[in-house]
Amino acid sequence: MLQVDGLAVDYGSKSRWSNAVTGVSFEIRRGEILGLAGESGSGKSTVGYALLAYLRAGSRIRAGRVTFAGRNILDLPPSELRALRGREIGFVPQNPTTSLSPAMSVGRQVAEVLRFHGIRPPNGVQARVVELLDSVGLPDPAVIAERFPHQLSGGQQQRVVIAMAIACEPSLIILDEPTTGLDVTTQARILRLLADLRTRIGSALLYISHDLGALFSLCDRVGIMYAGELVEIGTSEQLLNGARSPYTRGLMASVPRLDRPPDRRAALKGILRRDALGEGCRFAPRCPSAVDACAAIVQHLETVAPDHSVACSRWRELGASA
Ligand code: ADP
Ligand code: MG
Repeated sequence: MLQVDGLAVDYGSKSRWSNAVTGVSFEIRRGEILGLAGESGSGKSTVGYALLAYLRAGSRIRAGRVTFAGRNILDLPPSELRALRGREIGFVPQNPTTSLSPAMSVGRQVAEVLRFHGIRPPNGVQARVVELLDSVGLPDPAVIAERFPHQLSGGQQQRVVIAMAIACEPSLIILDEPTTGLDVTTQARILRLLADLRTRIGSALLYISHDLGALFSLCDRVGIMYAGELVEIGTSEQLLNGARSPYTRGLMASVPRLDRPPDRRAALKGILRRDALGEGCRFAPRCPSAVDACAAIVQHLETVAPDHSVACSRWRELGASA
């Protein structure tokens, strides 16, 4: 349904650009939940923005295509982008509460999304707004609709932003760390809501998070990013039971599991340092399985099994993790 090919995004200015995302390719299938994981700074948000052709301050799209419904989103004129965003692709940005206007009741803000896209609900806008606020699990939705953002908790604001993103029932919804900063109960509720949404309106979701546990429980497939590259992508099952990339294994070793002892050898050491990346494998300096050659070999995703690809030239020798 949506296909990303060779996406590369830079930050900087005329004199000096540095790449935040390089050569990222993947697809999002109709109705699926795809997760995107990786340490902070790995480029997850940059990918999320690029799928809607949003450019953050000081960034440029250097290369790539994002094909959606037969069009390259990165080539669309502004008027077509405005019509597409929110209508065909919904977006819940990281820190979604900053995307709410402080001066308008939240009900009016949800109504504004419907009005902007020319949607006339059969039962009227007001009823639809209340229905949407109800569907994201807000109690007393008619009362909440009259409130201003500052009168709501962070979790409630987050749900209002999700209600805005689903208002037009888009075929794809991108959610960037939608549960960060929320308490565990609210997080669990939002995860249930998202799983529910997919069933109810059939939307595909791109769920960006560094919370691997949440990703594996929610997503059909998960992509793992490191230093701006996609290093592995597969079904949740494939990654949980047979991750191939030493980086994926390292990330997973940092998640406590009841069913097996911690894998100390795989555990990630050090931090992602963007200023010290070599020509070849970007993870090599931190990789417990690296050999000298790795630092010189540019890594490309290779197919390991149907739906499962990894960018590690040693994947055959290293075998599966399980
Ligand atoms: P993630 O969402 O995985 O934490 P981001 O996509 O936010 O990662 O960032 C990817 C890289 O781009 C990081 O190295 C980050 O420092 C850099 N970056 C992000 N936003 C900007 C910006 N506005 N200006 C310069 N560099 C940025
Ligand atoms: Mg981010």
